[in-house]
Amino acid sequence: MKTDIEIAQEAKLEHIRDVAATIGIEEDDLEFYGKYKAKLSDDLWEKIKDNEDGKLVLVTAINPTPAGEGKTTTTVGLGQAMAKLNKKALIALREPSLGPCFGIKGGAAGGGYAQVVPMEDLNLHFTGDFHAITSANNLLAAMLDNHIQQGNALGIDPRQVVWKRCLDMNDRVLRNVVVGLGNKMDGMVREDHFVITVASEIMAILCLADNLADLKERLGRIIVAYNFNGEPVTADDLKATGAMAALLKDAIKPNLIQTLEHTPALVHGGPFANIAHGCNSVRATKMAMKLSDITITEAGFGADLGAEKFFDIKCRMAGLKPDAVVLVATVRALKYNGGVAKSDLAEENLDALAKGIVNLEKHIENIQKYGVPVIVTLNSFVTDTEAENEYIRKFCEERGCEFELSEVWEKGGEGGIALAQKVLETLDNKESSFHPLYSDELSIREKIEKIAKEIYGADGVVYEPAAQRQIDRIESLGFANFPVCMAKNQYSLSDDAKKLGRPEGFDIHIREVYVSAGAGFVVALTGAVMTMPGLPKVPAANGIDVTEDGKITGLF
Ligand code: ADP
Ligand code: MG
Repeated sequence: MKTDIEIAQEAKLEHIRDVAATIGIEEDDLEFYGKYKAKLSDDLWEKIKDNEDGKLVLVTAINPTPAGEGKTTTTVGLGQAMAKLNKKALIALREPSLGPCFGIKGGAAGGGYAQVVPMEDLNLHFTGDFHAITSANNLLAAMLDNHIQQGNALGIDPRQVVWKRCLDMNDRVLRNVVVGLGNKMDGMVREDHFVITVASEIMAILCLADNLADLKERLGRIIVAYNFNGEPVTADDLKATGAMAALLKDAIKPNLIQTLEHTPALVHGGPFANIAHGCNSVRATKMAMKLSDITITEAGFGADLGAEKFFDIKCRMAGLKPDAVVLVATVRALKYNGGVAKSDLAEENLDALAKGIVNLEKHIENIQKYGVPVIVTLNSFVTDTEAENEYIRKFCEERGCEFELSEVWEKGGEGGIALAQKVLETLDNKESSFHPLYSDELSIREKIEKIAKEIYGADGVVYEPAAQRQIDRIESLGFANFPVCMAKNQYSLSDDAKKLGRPEGFDIHIREVYVSAGAGFVVALTGAVMTMPGLPKVPAANGIDVTEDGKITGLF
């Protein structure tokens, strides 16, 4: 069997100009990054903004194994299948981070015969958006420390700096550092921290901003520290907003690439769903909806994280109304949720499947709480057995839930036609009555409790004393109406990664709460979740190489 990168490298790509033409984009509205990548110009938005919106389909999943369960693969394959059915479909995805590329999970271009290409470019530096975001983040950090050094006119309390530096890398030693060591000219000594770029507020802002003007307003509102009176100090106070926006002026434009079957795909922005809001940019989604009849988009990790934030943060803020949800399950993740070890997932095990399927059940119930029709798809692996497939099909049918097998990994668009037809039927026959889970008016604690109880299935919420104080401060600063961005491990519905399936009788532990005033949400860190991941014992990086003629190998 060929690897993802082998399949991707054998693909015959079309010039991106020709791919763009299939959705009515003229060459004039493209900014080329070589032959196969382009950014969409600001002028294009002006031309299409009054078009009628197409339908919006979200692809999400059950709680995954560490390898990922094929949401990107399904999203890409479904787009390819829609094209085979002569539907005008556009895919909207997130840009991959280098962290997982070199860590455990690998890249994020899809898999098998359902990939976007050029996959090496996308997985490595792509069009430089992450570089721009990292630079803007760290410019703000540099200006903050310089302000303190140069006399600290704003009275910034060095013990209450909340802005962190960032890097697009899994690098655990940077979680807690001391900066400013040396002599007087080397800055004020203080404890500092790094987050991975995908958890930076700048990433969230880029993904939620409507345009450059909105981007600037949001950047200006970022709270970087508190002064000695406990009042917030913002990026505007540091006069950093303009320069940050200048660094981001191209990064804010969506990127266009193609699938293995030349279906257009917008790939833009990439916050993680465990430690950030987990969705591609609002701009890309809105453009896709104006340019196509059906936009298929993915939110990260399981539906407890990605879909919840897609609905409660992205759709709420951008006024989007999703029309259907495709919920991806795999036999291996269901068995994993049923307690099978990672090494034994390829063996048939109907008992474990029966034990783990409660995880799927909970996610179906959760999506129904948002009023959006749901279609379960089983992302088929060659190791799956007929008996396992039938068990899952029957489980869904008994619950009146749409179900279809997907074979896009093995067969590309052809393997997704049955699923695409099921999605089209659902779009035609079932009305979405989308509404977020909670209203803006609830307090921060009420919002956290609602997510914990209704989505995770927790009994209650336990707050660390520091988190209690932080929430009080955030509410007194006037941010009580913000939605909450939960940071939680992706494996369990609970905040303990080892509690698989559909755990019961647990509390959610809130360790730290901070406001992302520019992004417009409050972040609540649960359990032991980290905003700067580490590398595993044997990182994927060990197997990645480049030949003398420039061909990349070992990336997956
Ligand atoms: P997610 O988006 O849910 O994290 P991906 O679509 O990125 O998952 O897939 C994760 C990995 O699993 C990829 O390396 C992909 O090639 C592989 N994969 C996905 N679907 C299948 C499948 N049906 N059979 C074998 N491998 C698959
Ligand atoms: Mg993915």
